[in-house]
Amino acid sequence: MSASVLLIYTGGTIGMWADPRTGALRPMDLEHLEEQVPELERVGVRLESVAFETPIDSSDMRPADWVRVARIIGEHYDKHDGFVVLHGSDTMAYTASALSFLLENLSKPVILTGSQLPIGTIRTDAKENLITAIEIAAAKDEQGRAMVPEVAVYFEYRLLRGNRTVKVHAERFEAFRSPNWPALAEAGVRIKWDRSAILPQRAGSLNMHERLDDHVGVVRLFPGISGGWVRSALSSPGLRAAILTTFGSGNGPTDPDFVAALREARERGIHLLNATQCVGGRVEQGRYVTSRAFVELGVIPCADMTVEAALTKAMFLLGQDQPAEDFAQRMAAPIAGELTLG
Ligand code: ASP
Repeated sequence: MSASVLLIYTGGTIGMWADPRTGALRPMDLEHLEEQVPELERVGVRLESVAFETPIDSSDMRPADWVRVARIIGEHYDKHDGFVVLHGSDTMAYTASALSFLLENLSKPVILTGSQLPIGTIRTDAKENLITAIEIAAAKDEQGRAMVPEVAVYFEYRLLRGNRTVKVHAERFEAFRSPNWPALAEAGVRIKWDRSAILPQRAGSLNMHERLDDHVGVVRLFPGISGGWVRSALSSPGLRAAILTTFGSGNGPTDPDFVAALREARERGIHLLNATQCVGGRVEQGRYVTSRAFVELGVIPCADMTVEAALTKAMFLLGQDQPAEDFAQRMAAPIAGELTLG
């Protein structure tokens, strides 16, 4: 019997059309989207679909929407062999990261895809992305188990681990990279899997989490950043954790007022995390003098996690109501292949 895949349409360019009055791109509904791809009838996979009532541009995605997608997957989990989430590319890496934490013990593929050009346009990249994502979601190994039992992003011939992915280009079809982890597969004439890069099958059944604490923020460091700027950012009401995106291997200014602003936040019990602004590589606190203050203040190094993974992981862990002391330890340990231990 052919495999069964659930298509979850959230919005994004893939399903957009140009409003004739303004020329601006707006999401269309799932029925119109499916009409644009008659090839879907011939992919040899049983397809069912669900859609957000109002499809959205991914810039409007919020943590509650990540939970909404996780819930759809949880509710349909037993009925399907895999899931394809159609999503805008702008924040796809955040959604993919969040889903990788919310869907504990995942043993079926959850493949996010979208496109740079709407599906109805002549040069669209949407059809290949969609059809191959479905093929990957349905793929089985020799033992009949899912080939990719994890959350991944498929875009422009490459399958990448979701929580390792970053959007690196606003226009190119090749919009995503996962600088700190190899591609899980490359699609050419055939799909070439890199089995050593794919997460192993997990024992146990799916444990879907629904709680995320969004009292988490990001403070991007820049040359000349002042203590006042940091104080203002870290005084957001209810803030529990902030990711500092730092220079190079996790460095920041030694300016005493900047450091004092961080210290004040730590004294108020705010967790501070250190993720690099660099696209690739890892944080090594203490390697340079310019990261010594972070060590002294108990800033948590995010190793080689993307900012997207660090942010969503912090939201996930804070949503689990565990003792504050455990937070640093759990941030530093991999949950879904999002970091490499140094
Ligand atoms: N703005 C769009 C979105 O993220 C871009 C895209 O889909 O590629 O929803």
